[in-house]
Amino acid sequence: MSLAMLNDTHATGVAQWLSDAGIPFRENFSLARISQIKAGGTPRLFVQPQNMSLLCRFLAYLKQHSIGWIVIGNLSNLLIRSGELNTIVISLKEFRDIDFMDGYVCVGAGVLLPVLAREMETKGYAGFSGLYGVPGSIGGGIFMNASCYGNAVSDYLIDVTFLTEDGDIRVLKRDELSFSWRKSAFHDRFRRCIIVEARFSLIKNEMAVDKLKLTDAHVNRSLYQESAFPNLGSLFATRNIYGEIASHFPVYRALLLCIRIVLHLMPGDRHANFARLATSMTRWYFDIRDTDKVGLSGKTINCVINKGGAEADEIVGFVRNLQGKLQNCVPLEIEIIDRIE
Ligand SMILES: Cc1cc2nc3c(=O)[nH]c(=O)nc-3n(C[C@H](O)[C@H](O)[C@H](O)COP(=O)(O)OP(=O)(O)OC[C@H]3O[C@@H](n4cnc5c(N)ncnc54)[C@H](O)[C@@H]3O)c2cc1C
Repeated sequence: MSLAMLNDTHATGVAQWLSDAGIPFRENFSLARISQIKAGGTPRLFVQPQNMSLLCRFLAYLKQHSIGWIVIGNLSNLLIRSGELNTIVISLKEFRDIDFMDGYVCVGAGVLLPVLAREMETKGYAGFSGLYGVPGSIGGGIFMNASCYGNAVSDYLIDVTFLTEDGDIRVLKRDELSFSWRKSAFHDRFRRCIIVEARFSLIKNEMAVDKLKLTDAHVNRSLYQESAFPNLGSLFATRNIYGEIASHFPVYRALLLCIRIVLHLMPGDRHANFARLATSMTRWYFDIRDTDKVGLSGKTINCVINKGGAEADEIVGFVRNLQGKLQNCVPLEIEIIDRIE
């Protein structure tokens, strides 16, 4: 299906329709203001429906007029190109209800994972504390099957309610959504669908293990993860970036082995020392140079940072260049949308 360009006439028509329907929207709203890496284009229309029936109506309207759209969560894994965007951007930030019921909790797609983790922990329920430091929404978290410190979004999931592109409502159980590491059926089978809410089982956390995790999650993150500069978390989809690169480059592998041997002789925190040495060696080996505005974290090469004022296109360029130097040996975890109208 070819989608209509959102020219001035279209934009005015859609804006009028949204006003009549009572759906909040903003014109020429820079995504850099809300994205976690502080970069992203400027959609002519940024729409925030408040509930499912309004969202259904809006999708039906867009389909009827063949107008293109994308859905975003908290923009913590997504980099959208710079400049004006004719594609409508839909945010579910207003879907923020958390309803505790008998044996389960129903959570809107716009609820942030740290908010849910804190709420579950406070009420003594298991399974979410590890997700405290993941700055995504429930919608984005389910899409990515976000996980951290032994808790994955899908662990206690009962089912997900979502809308198809045609605005039909569907509810599928966890086992029907093909969850695996950082993946779900929303990557392929249900790619153009919008997650609106999810239900999770409530399991009492009798051992209070999660409470410990919440504290650990906080401490560990500040030690080993980038916190000084805006970023998108892990750049590449791997649990072991250095090991992954080493498996493709024999000389690099030998250098990494030398670092591991040297580590035994060094005083101090072995993890931090390894990160520092492996990062420096990797930068040197592949001749990776920061620009004035974009670079890699000092704590890991698996994190691209906005050093200040970088546009999305500059960050995309940096990432593409890095991928080239690594000969595309590791897939990206972040999602780049640079080919939209
Ligand atoms: C500092 C930092 C630390 C991080 N640490 C972790 C970590 O430990 N573990 C981890 O797994 N991730 C981590 N991430 C990555 C990120 O937070 C997760 O991938 C998160 O799940 C993305 O959610 P989001 O709401 O920000 O989605 P976005 O980045 O906005 O979107 C991601 C994808 O989800 C889709 N999407 C979003 N909402 C919906 C919806 N309602 N319906 C359908 N599709 C939707 C978007 O279209 C897009 O394709 C980290 C990111 C940062 C910035």
